[in-house]
This record gives sequence, structure tokens and C-alpha cells, in this order.
Amino acid sequence: MILDNYTTSKGSEVPYYRFPFLARQDRIFHGVFTRHGGVSRRPYDSFNMAFNVGDHPKDVENNLDILREVVGAEKLIFMNQLHGRDILVLQREKGPEIRSGVHADAMITDIPYLGLMVKQADCQAVILFDPVKKVISNVHCGWRGNVLNILGAVVQRMRTVFNCRGSDLIACISPSLGPCCAEFVTYEDIFDQDLRRHMIHPTYFDLWEMSRVQLAEAGLEEDNIRVAGICSKCNTDLFFSYRAEGTTGRSATVVMLKPEHSK
Ligand SMILES: [Zn+2]
Repeated sequence: MILDNYTTSKGSEVPYYRFPFLARQDRIFHGVFTRHGGVSRRPYDSFNMAFNVGDHPKDVENNLDILREVVGAEKLIFMNQLHGRDILVLQREKGPEIRSGVHADAMITDIPYLGLMVKQADCQAVILFDPVKKVISNVHCGWRGNVLNILGAVVQRMRTVFNCRGSDLIACISPSLGPCCAEFVTYEDIFDQDLRRHMIHPTYFDLWEMSRVQLAEAGLEEDNIRVAGICSKCNTDLFFSYRAEGTTGRSATVVMLKPEHSK
């Protein structure tokens, strides 16, 4: 991944990663943010985006302001993520009410300058982009998301609402719990036979591959799917990890559509 750095108007440094595959697309901004660059104190240090983890609300608000500046968004939108399968669709021609905090785990939009933010600590953020129809999505996908196949549901919704074609879609899977650390002792209770094929050795699962396969089965070309391949639990110096730390923050992955001829 490409490591970038943004210096805010107040002089703080905000590092973030980009997928080379998506960085080539000039109609979107995207960034995988780390735990650094914000104002929250331990154990939320420092770029925590979640209000519901015990952090000071003022600090979270400050972090969101910093993030909005880095992204260049008119508005940042985020969800009350519930590990479910509900999808928030914001369609330009419908003139939707745009507000954060809706109960959902995926967002889809064709509206420019609307930054879609997923909050994560081990779960995946999966960015989808249709360069033909100019539609983006950001999906919060943990193992429960895989069980519910939220990725398949998102691709289907992009098809029905925006006439996207699976073969046009690009998808990138963020840093998240890797096969090195994704242990599920009770896997027989949670994964069906189909998902159990992603067990790489006893009780350890490759959730990246699980998502990759679900995207491919939803119609994406294998070549259009990228995995960051960075484990959040192995890299708590960079990312928040619920499994490693318990009480901790949530980092941001953002995607935003830009209008034509913008920089
Ligand atoms: Zn790991």
C-alpha cells in the first residue's frame, strides 16, 4: 500500500494508506487511516472515530473534524454498525436526507463530496467502486458480515439501484484480522460447511479469502479484487485491534466520489 501524509491547517500530521489499485482512479478519494493523527488519549490513542467505546465525545468530534479536512469532504457519513446486513443507499436523484447514525453496515452512493466512513478494529472495510457508473460503496464486514454475505448483498443492490455490472466493479479489502490471528474455536457453531473451506489450519480462518470469494461469487472479476494483506492484530502500533486490546478505538476507512475535472 502507498503511505501518504497530510498536514492539517492546525499543523497536525495525519498518515494514511491507499491501495495502488484505487489510487489510479481520479474520480475518487480513498484512505485507510491508522490510529495516529488524532487527539484521543489512551487507550483510544489517538485517531478514534467511535463515540460508543468509552472515549471523550469532544475528542471524537475533534478527530472527525480532522478527518473531514484530510478527506476534503463536504460531509462525512458513518453508520451505527451492527454486524448486520442493512444497506444505506444515498441516491442523488432521490435527494436523500443525509445523516449519520443510521443502523446499517454498508453505504452506497453516487453523490460527490460525501465521504463514506467505516469504523473498524479488526473488521474489514471493503471499498467498492464502479468507474463506469461512478458509484461507490463502503462496507463494514467482520465474520458476521461474511456469514450474512453482506458483500454479495451490496453488489446486488448496486446492480438493482444503479445498474452496475459486477464485471465493472473494483473492490479493495482493508487491513483487518489476518489468517495469522483469526481463530474461531467455536467455528462449528458459526460457519457453515461452505465457509469452513476457508479454515487454513485447525480453528484458524482466512477471512480475507472468504471476502474475496464472496465478491467473486457476486460477479466481480478476480483481477479486480485487492486485499491489503495487513493484519490489524499483528500491527497494534498502526491499527486498533479489538482482539488484541479489548477496550480500544476504531479507525477510519473512507471513500468519496469526486466530480469530473476535480483534482
Ligand atoms: Zn495477525
